[in-house]
Order: sequence, then structure tokens, then C-alpha cells
Amino acid sequence: MARSAKPEQGDKRDFITFGIAIAAIILFVGTAGQVLAQTVKNVLGQAPAPDPLLLNAVILNVALIILVWRRYRELTAEIEQRREAEALARRLAETDPLTGCLNRRSLSAAGAALLQAAAGERRLVAAMMLDLDHFKAINDLNGHKVGDQVLVELARRIRGVMPADALVARLGGDEFACFMRFDARSREAVDRHAAALLKAISAPVVIDGLEIDISTSIGIAASDGLEGASLDECLSQALVHRADIAMYQAKKAGRAQFAWFEPAMENELRFRNELEVGIRNGVREGHFKPYYERQIDLATGDLIGFEMLARWESPDMGLVGPDIFIPIAEEMGIISEMSDRLVEQALADAAGWSEHLTLSINVSPVQLRDPWFAQKLLQRLHAAHFPPQRLEVEITESCLHENLEVVRTVIASLKNQGVKISLDDFGTGYSSLSQLRSLPFDRIKIDRSFVSGVDGDENAATIVESIVQLGQGLNLPITAEGVENEAILGLLRGMGEMKAQGYHYGRPADAAATRDWLASQDLVVPAAELEALTADEAARAAETEPARRTG
Ligand code: C2E
Ligand code: CA
Ligand code: CA
Repeated sequence: MARSAKPEQGDKRDFITFGIAIAAIILFVGTAGQVLAQTVKNVLGQAPAPDPLLLNAVILNVALIILVWRRYRELTAEIEQRREAEALARRLAETDPLTGCLNRRSLSAAGAALLQAAAGERRLVAAMMLDLDHFKAINDLNGHKVGDQVLVELARRIRGVMPADALVARLGGDEFACFMRFDARSREAVDRHAAALLKAISAPVVIDGLEIDISTSIGIAASDGLEGASLDECLSQALVHRADIAMYQAKKAGRAQFAWFEPAMENELRFRNELEVGIRNGVREGHFKPYYERQIDLATGDLIGFEMLARWESPDMGLVGPDIFIPIAEEMGIISEMSDRLVEQALADAAGWSEHLTLSINVSPVQLRDPWFAQKLLQRLHAAHFPPQRLEVEITESCLHENLEVVRTVIASLKNQGVKISLDDFGTGYSSLSQLRSLPFDRIKIDRSFVSGVDGDENAATIVESIVQLGQGLNLPITAEGVENEAILGLLRGMGEMKAQGYHYGRPADAAATRDWLASQDLVVPAAELEALTADEAARAAETEPARRTG
């Protein structure tokens, strides 16, 4: 507002100056004709000298005209300068300083104008959201300066691919958005541009001789899906929002590709967001609980221990299995916190079980990225006075291709203290025989997808038999999971020695049910003994506490 007041003032001054000039000219025309003619005649000796007062007035008049004219020139130059400065300020506020693209704010307004123009021509607008894949790694690896140069180059390529009248904006970080008009009958035109963007961006960027490979994921939404919304900035923002949802699908589908928005995606995203909020709350409130599945010696039928399986006792959804929440917790970066709490509870539960019973826990590949994982787990065992020999850590084959060296040191540190390591889900991944030999596993667990099929599927039976023989050959004990009935049990017994677990022996049960069942089998630490143990623990903690404080 304050900015626009100045040109108005300038215009007013302009107007007054112009008025004075006109008055001076009229005065000049009125008097100068007569005075000048008389002066010329006087010089020629044909008339008396003009009235000196009138002559002075004419001379003053000329001076005034010259003065006003110069003032007028100055004023117009001043106004022009101010207009230019204002245009520059506006341009700076509307563009991203790094790439020169529009910014989020200006895209919204420009997008609204484009939508309006397209509606007038009975055409549609497609919004494309681009999010570079793994851009953070490029920044981390090469520094922000190189990262910035990559962004500048990619912005140039995007502008090169998009039609001249398209809008190209950088929404911050490694996110770009494009708006383009298209004919409702030729969506392929949009597809073609998206494909061209993927191609242009995937060509290596060379900076100071350094070749940087990058790709992008693109989400696309068209304005025809947004009937009912008014033609204003909200519509433009809704379009970006939908393109964003589609972009996440493109990422999920494996990156370096484009995806069109579909209404089902919105519901999925909403559900996913609700799950994330629920999981975060659940971890805080302690709604994730360890359940226990029995592990049996096949030959004797004796109980050997339990595998801890996580369950979400959700107040909204009831009991939820780990296949739903573990992958999300991994993506949210909350898996370690969740697992720590579960293990802590499990160690407390297992303290009440008969001393020869083991506890198996599952570990996510994400947790194994932490080089301190082993130390933290051992510390936890120590704090709970749980003998490391009673703990078994199950890692899946997928852990092995991520960061073998870290996994190797983690395994070594744990084994060093007596913790056993099992290779879980054997047969479903890609672990090679050489990996099996080079990593010091204590046990192989045959995946339940093979085991639960042995009574009907000949292939499954052959696979299980081969794995059992492999285990014998490598001197690695075997556990078969997914033993669902007596028939499977009989077939497995014929194959050799092993441990078994599965629904045949009972469904995974919570801590209280497990303890009740163990009590019925006389497999619990008597309550009095347990109390003594905890009292002893409390005393020990009290002893070490002051020492720690003074130390
Ligand atoms: P898993 O380690 O292979 O666990 C065995 C899964 O098979 C469990 O599913 C168990 O309930 C199920 N199962 C057991 N016996 C039978 C049977 O006879 N038939 C059939 N059809 N299924 C049987 P659950 O509890 O849903 O766990 C799924 C996976 O989630 C586990 O597979 C494990 O990889 C992962 N998981 C569970 N708890 C945790 C945890 O605390 N941390 C991590 N990182 N992963 C966990
Ligand atoms: Ca397992
Ligand atoms: Ca398994």
C-alpha cells in the first residue's frame, strides 16, 4: 500500500509542473508576439522601444518555461527509475533466487491465472510435482555448493523441456512444480512432457569434471478432477496437493518414473497418515506389546524357548500385526525406539520364566545400520541381568546386502558375549552359500512359506529337505517355522533333527497368558524367588547409583 502512494504523489507533482508550463506558454504566446515584433521594429528604427516591464516579463517567461521543462524531464526520469526498482523488487519476491524459477507463493497466483486462461479456451491444466531422488545424498557427498549447481542446471533443463508458456517453480529444497495447459483429448501430450523431463534430468550433470547421476519422481494431476472448486488460488493449491500425492506413489513404485493422481491415492495417504500418528502415540503410550511363540525340540517335544513377536494393541483398530506397522515404523525412523521398549519388556517377562528357556528377538535391517547396536543391546541385557547365552537374535537375509561390514561387526560383538545369531526367513532372500559360511550364524530358520506347504506341495518338501541337509553339511542347527499341523510335524521328523515352531503348538500369546501357561507346566521362577531377585536388583542399583553420581 505504502509503495503505491509514491507514484501517485509523483503523478500529482507531474501534473502541477505540467500546468505551470502550459500557463507559462499561454502567457508567452499572449505577450511575446507583440513585444518581440515591437523590439524588431525598434531595432530597425521603425518604432519606439517596447515597454521595459513587458520585455522583462517575456524574458522571465522564457526562463520559466526552460526551468519548468527541465523539472519536468527530471521528474519523469525519477518516476521511471522508481518504477524499475519496484518491478525488480516484485520480481525478486516472486522468484527463487537460486534458479530464477517462480517460488511457491507466485506459483499459486500464476497458476490461478493460467487455470482461468485455460478455462476460457476450454483446455485443462496439468500440474507436475518433481521431487529429486536421493538429492540429500548428493548434498552430503559433494557439499551444498555442488548441490546448488545441480539444482540450477536441472531448472534449466526443466525449462528447456516444458512449453514456453508453462509455469516452472521451485518449491524449496529439491522440489519443482510445473503447470502446463493441454487439450482434454490429448493427455498423451502431458505424458510426453513427463517422459521428456525424466529423460532430461537423468542425463548426468557434470560439475568441475565431476559426473553426478540423478533421477526424479513425478506426480501429475489434471484440473478436470477438481470440479466444484472455484477458479482461484485454492484450486491451484489443490492441484499441487494432488500432484504431490501422485508423486509419493511414483516414489513408492520405485522412483525415476511418473504417476497420475487417482482418487484412491488420497484415501491411502490419509490412512497412512492416521497409521503414522497412531504408531507415534502407541510407542509413547506403550501400546506395542511383546507376544510369545513357543519353540519346541522336534525330537523330544520339549519347550526350548520363545520367539518374541511384536503386536500393536491399538485402541482404535484392535490387535495389529507387525507386517502392517514394522515397515512404517522403519520408514518413520521410529523402529529402534519401538524395538528398545519391546525388548525391555520381553527381558522383564523372560526373567520370570524357567532359567533354561531362551528368548529370540527379531531385528530390523534399519536397526543394524547403527554401528553401536550390539553395545546398546548388551548394555540392556546387563541392566536386566539377563544372561546373554539365553538370547537369540534373528536377522533376515535382507540385512546382509545392505551393509555387510557393519552387520559382521555387530554379529561378532554379540557372539563374543554369548548371544546366538539366527538367519531368519531362509530361502526367501538371496543369501549365498559363501555368505552363510563367512558369517558365523548359529542357526538357520526355514521360512514358514516352505514349511507350511510340505504336506501338499512336493516342491516345498524338496526345498525344506535340501535346507535341512545343507544345515547338516554346514553343521548349522535348523528351526522350521510355520508348523501348522500333525501331518507337517510327521514329515519334518522324518527329515532330521531340528527345532520347530508354529500354530500347531499354539498361537503367539501375550506376557500374562504365556506366564499362566508356563506356570501350569511348572516352568516359571517361583514368585518368592523372583521377588528376591528384584529386591536384590534394587539393592544393587542403589549401591551403584551413588558411585555413578560421585564418579
Ligand atoms: P517371522 O520372524 O518370520 O515370524 C514368524 C511369523 O509367522 C509370525 O508372524 C507368526 O505369527 C507367524 N506364524 C507362526 N506360526 C505360524 C504358522 O503355523 N502358520 C502361519 N501361517 N504363520 C505362522 P507375525 O507375528 O505376523 O510376524 C511377522 C513378521 O514381523 C515376523 O516374521 C518378523 O519378521 C517381523 N517381526 C515381528 N516382531 C518383530 C519385532 O519386534 N521387530 C522386528 N524388527 N520385526 C518383527
Ligand atoms: Ca523371526
Ligand atoms: Ca521367519
